[in-house]
Amino acid sequence: MNGDVAGGSVGQTASADRQVDAPRSLLVVGDVPSGHGPACQALAERTETGHRVRGATTSGACADTDAWYADTGSGVFDDLSLSELGMALSDAVTNLDTNDRDGLHVCIDGLPDPAESADDELTLFRFVHAVTNRVQAADGSVHVHLPVDRDAALVATFEPLFDAVVELRERDDTLQARSSAWRSGAGRWVPASSL
Ligand SMILES: [Zn+2]
Repeated sequence: MNGDVAGGSVGQTASADRQVDAPRSLLVVGDVPSGHGPACQALAERTETGHRVRGATTSGACADTDAWYADTGSGVFDDLSLSELGMALSDAVTNLDTNDRDGLHVCIDGLPDPAESADDELTLFRFVHAVTNRVQAADGSVHVHLPVDRDAALVATFEPLFDAVVELRERDDTLQARSSAWRSGAGRWVPASSL
């Protein structure tokens, strides 16, 4: 039983709280393209992970972390269609299931904009739902990048699929982040490096 996840405003002792109950699925948002790379790496590093997997579609990634994942991770899947990426990630997780899965973190990037893509919003929703479920069923954690403002309609659509939304912004040349759990208030802004 790990019951006391719900409620509570994460914030006053952010680093301590994260150690206790780190969300296992995060939606990373913010119209700060240069910020997604550092945030991506910080999120992947904050858990003891034995396997790091990154996947991006042909729509273009916002986090420039392929090389880092290739060095530290179990796989980088790039320039795939949404359905191809779904299968590649599922296979990667399945392979870990049958061997060892001593820690798994997955990054999803380059989700197509449904307004400019053949993949409509329902298709995207199903993809994100399937991937986040698959990773968590394998005891892994996952984050998904969406380089748009926190109040964008697309964020509202996807937010229920995640434990929390991490919002990025730049202030005084510093990348900051704050997280908010589904239907609860946002925490304090903290340096993204301490994610
Ligand atoms: Zn990432």
